[in-house]
Amino acid sequence: MKRVTLTLLLLTAVASTSYADDWGAIELQGRTVEPGSKARFPFIPDQSFEATYLNMPVFVARGAEPGPTLCITAGIHGDELNGVEVARRAFSEVDTESMRGTLIALPAINAEGVRTGNRYLSDRRDLNRAFPGRAGGSVASLIAYSVFEVVQSCDALVDLHTASNNRTNLPQIRADISDPEIRELAVHFGLGIVVAGKGPDGSLRREAAKAGIPAIIYEAGEPYRFQEHEVERGVEGVRNVMAHLDMTDRADVEIPDTRVYERTRWIRARTGQGGFFFPSAGLGDIVEAGQRLGRIVDPLTDESFDVVSTIPGEVVGMAVPQPVLSGYALFHVAWHTND
Ligand SMILES: [Zn+2]
Repeated sequence: MKRVTLTLLLLTAVASTSYADDWGAIELQGRTVEPGSKARFPFIPDQSFEATYLNMPVFVARGAEPGPTLCITAGIHGDELNGVEVARRAFSEVDTESMRGTLIALPAINAEGVRTGNRYLSDRRDLNRAFPGRAGGSVASLIAYSVFEVVQSCDALVDLHTASNNRTNLPQIRADISDPEIRELAVHFGLGIVVAGKGPDGSLRREAAKAGIPAIIYEAGEPYRFQEHEVERGVEGVRNVMAHLDMTDRADVEIPDTRVYERTRWIRARTGQGGFFFPSAGLGDIVEAGQRLGRIVDPLTDESFDVVSTIPGEVVGMAVPQPVLSGYALFHVAWHTND
């Protein structure tokens, strides 16, 4: 029986710390990407039932001049489409003649999920809990392992996400700001808002950072659709990061003052207060403790319950209007701890 093999190193000669004189082509498995050129190709040219689930697209742009390697990853959650389009656009517009270094985009890592609108893999595993993966494991482990091999040749990583089902996120960077290099990367994305955190165990961001690769997440908008504003902010962020890493010359980069939030909390539907949820607060609103953020109406009794913030902060994520039950997470409020 044919076995899907993902253990070969995809990329060689990608990152040399000195970005030295021996700058040349990247040798890929069976492929060569010359300086000053771009290539788009399937991750594995293998044909088998399993391989079709693993066969994510790979985009590589090799600059004419030496420089660092930036990796952008998207579609780890297959329903999160904004990042998939951010990666496509950001890669598409790169001018390899003037670029220094290498841009690697893995724009649809859970390729099957992107095609079918599924957050998880078809075996219901969450790929973003499977990193760094292993060669001999489940499909999730295999994909994670092969992606992680690529990521290990990167000097920086931007992983692209949206909120999950029936929720939406204010465009924001999430990053472990206790690491100065990661903090710099986060701020230079240029959104003006960074929410601190290492991310869950097994997530690409956390495991990459643990392996010494500065990694940040861009979180923006909702799943299942392309949202122009969120996509464009993401593309602009990738441009800003490339300028920050000295991969491009851009005189017009303006990095705004950045709100850095160390803490977040979800305001939830209280026990016994399920019903139809109607928010009045919105993304980016600055709210006070005790402020009414919306209401829930029990449609059988017409009783109405106020949803009230328990803390002061900024609304960085929220549920969209929908029927909700006790404990459902409604508003994600972020705040700064030490003034
Ligand atoms: Zn996600």
